[in-house]
Amino acid sequence: MVKDTKLYDLLGVSPSASENELKKAYRKGALRYHPDKNPSEEAAEKFKELSSAYEILSDAQKRDVYDQYGEEGLTGAGPGGMGGMGGDDIFSQFFGGMGGFGGQSRPSGPQRGRDIQHSLSCTLEELFKGKTAKLALNKTVLCKPCGGKGGKNVKECTTCHGQGIRIINRQMGPMIQRMQVQCDKCNGTGDIMDAKDRCKTCHGKKTANERKILEVHIDAGMKEGEKVVFRGEGDQGPNIVPGDVVFVVDQKPHDKFTRKGDDLYYEAELDVLTALAGGSFAVKHVSGEYLKVEIVPGEFIAPDSVKVIENQGMPIRRHGGRGNLFIKFTVTFPKPHSIPEDKLKLLEQVLPARKEASIPKAAIVEECMLAEVDPSKHRQGARQSSYDEDMEDGEEGAGPGVQCASQ
Ligand SMILES: [Zn+2]
Ligand SMILES: [Zn+2]
Repeated sequence: MVKDTKLYDLLGVSPSASENELKKAYRKGALRYHPDKNPSEEAAEKFKELSSAYEILSDAQKRDVYDQYGEEGLTGAGPGGMGGMGGDDIFSQFFGGMGGFGGQSRPSGPQRGRDIQHSLSCTLEELFKGKTAKLALNKTVLCKPCGGKGGKNVKECTTCHGQGIRIINRQMGPMIQRMQVQCDKCNGTGDIMDAKDRCKTCHGKKTANERKILEVHIDAGMKEGEKVVFRGEGDQGPNIVPGDVVFVVDQKPHDKFTRKGDDLYYEAELDVLTALAGGSFAVKHVSGEYLKVEIVPGEFIAPDSVKVIENQGMPIRRHGGRGNLFIKFTVTFPKPHSIPEDKLKLLEQVLPARKEASIPKAAIVEECMLAEVDPSKHRQGARQSSYDEDMEDGEEGAGPGVQCASQ
């Protein structure tokens, strides 16, 4: 015998109504009183009451509490005697985002497992050609012999309705305290089975560990941070939709090339003769091929200048074309004093004439010589300490500007 029949009366069902009967009754009433269909205030109130009643009675635990203790049993709940959900929420959950009504839909159904992410280190050569990597993965799968059920003749625990938890009510003077405890009938598993029916492989655990080999296809031209996704290859579990296994491309640095998008950057070293009078140089490309690059005589490749070789960059994914290859030049000079002075005169015949030093006629001129920099003798950017001291001795009481300059 139930304590109170008010919520059942609202839905127009008997207290012994099945879940299905409740559902039907709510659907009928909700469609009739939904504010989108019936804008009167009375209907709105009725809709709220119906939704509230259904929210309680459709939840096996709440229904138990209500049957035993009536509405007072459902303490700690907000206005209308229900915990948090508004009429529209329960409505949209119930009808699963059916068109025509303003209710917002909520994701429902089994929980989704988490995604597992791995980074996949690739050389520029591998990203140029693409590759297939076979990777072993340890994952949790549903136990095969029992199909993830844990054994034979498994029944939903009637005490907790398969939830594994139970709400108990404790009378404390005038208050009823509600507590959530692990169901002792099923030890929190939510199922009941005979010990003899328990799966011999997983001992009722429902899951097993499995080593799986995944073939990861890296497309030619893939970039740092791009992903290869294996849908649903994440860990399996009872009542879980497995998440994805995601491989993220991690491009290893290359000692000769850098990459920006689909373009490649390379630094080439030319001797001064090639830079001025032409010749060729070779590039070992990430494609595995060698590029032989012509320098036209008289092109005069200046140090730090940048040129481009079109269509020799990375493959453009799903496009077929290629990016460009940019080349920055350094020019190496002959070793000092490696050419006899009389031979240097030959340069005067071909190079543009020297630019003479321009000094005003009246200027005082000091002749200087260049020397090699000796780090122990010439600390660049810093003055000798003895010199600093001399300055300070001579300029006592000088302003901060002088002190700054001497540091
Ligand atoms: Zn149970
Ligand atoms: Zn099993």
